[in-house]
Amino acid sequence: GAMDIATPTRTKDIIRKHGFTFKKSLGQNFLIDKNILDKIVDAAALNKDKGALEIGPGIGALTERLAQEAGKVAAVEIDNRLIPILEEVLSPYPHVSVVHGDVLKTDLAKLWAERFASCSQVSVVANLPYYVTTPIVMTLLEQKLPLDRIVVMVQKEVAERMAAKPGGKDYGTLSIAVQYYCVPDIVCVVPSGAFIPAPNVDSAVIRLTKREAPPVDVSDETRFFRVVHAAFTQRRKTLHNNLAALVGKDRKGELAGLLEASGIKPERRGETLSLQEFATLSEALASAGL
Ligand code: SAM
Repeated sequence: GAMDIATPTRTKDIIRKHGFTFKKSLGQNFLIDKNILDKIVDAAALNKDKGALEIGPGIGALTERLAQEAGKVAAVEIDNRLIPILEEVLSPYPHVSVVHGDVLKTDLAKLWAERFASCSQVSVVANLPYYVTTPIVMTLLEQKLPLDRIVVMVQKEVAERMAAKPGGKDYGTLSIAVQYYCVPDIVCVVPSGAFIPAPNVDSAVIRLTKREAPPVDVSDETRFFRVVHAAFTQRRKTLHNNLAALVGKDRKGELAGLLEASGIKPERRGETLSLQEFATLSEALASAGL
C-alpha cells in the first residue's frame, strides 16, 4: 500500500520521528526494498490459516507484509527501543503480537501454544541478525518445533554453506545439520543496497523446507552429530585422524577396518562424505561400541 514501511523515505521518517539510532551489535540492517520483501513473502507461501513467527522485526517492514498474508503473526524483538515503534506502526493489525525478548531465551514451545493454536501450519520468516544466525536456525531445528518452513535472510556465505553439497569448501557441519532436517533452496541473492544501513557483506534469502522425516536412518542423533563434528574438527586432516580423537588412543587401531567395512576409505576427508555415509559410519561406530 501507499504507506509501506519498506521504502527509504518511510523508513527514514520513522527513524527520525522516534530518534532511533542503529545498533550494529544487534545486527540492525533494515530492509528498504519492496521487491525483496515480495520475494521473501512469496517464498513463505502464507495464507490466512497459517501463522508466521518473525525474529527481529526492527521497525516492522516485513512484519507489515506478514500481517497482510498470515492469520497470526508473532514477532520477537530484543531491542526495547523498537517496541513502541512497532506498536504504533502495527496498530492496524490486531492479529500481530510483538514479544519483547531475546529469541534464544524465549520459550518457543510456549509461544507456539499461546499464539499459534488456531493455525494449520506455522512458518518462520525473518531478516535475521547476522551475528546469531546459526544459533537461531539450530535452535529452531533442534527443538523440533511444529513449523513447515523457514524463510530467512542471511549472509550470502552462510546461505551457501547451508545449501552446500559434499565435496566443496562450503560443505560442513552446518550443511549437514540443516539438510538432516530440511531441504534448502536459495531464493535470491540480495545486494547490500537493499538495507539501511548497508551491511558490508552480500546477503541471500534461503528457504528451508522441513522434511517429514530425516533422509537417513540414525538410531541416535546425538551420536550422529558428534561423529559429524569430529570429522570436521581439522578440515585438512583425514577422516581417520579426526575420528581417532573421538574414539580414543586405545581403540584407534579398529578404526581403519571399520571405515573400510562401511565402504569409506580412511584417507578421505570429512567434507567428501554424504549424509548417508555419515549415517552408515555413525551406526557402525555404535555397533562396535565406539
Ligand atoms: N525485520 C527488520 C527488517 O527486515 O527491516 C529488521 C531486521 S534486522 C537485520 C535484525 C533485527 O533483529 C533487529 O531489529 C535487531 O534488534 C533484532 N535482534 C537482534 N538480536 C536479536 C535476538 N537475539 N532476539 C530477537 N531479536 C533480535
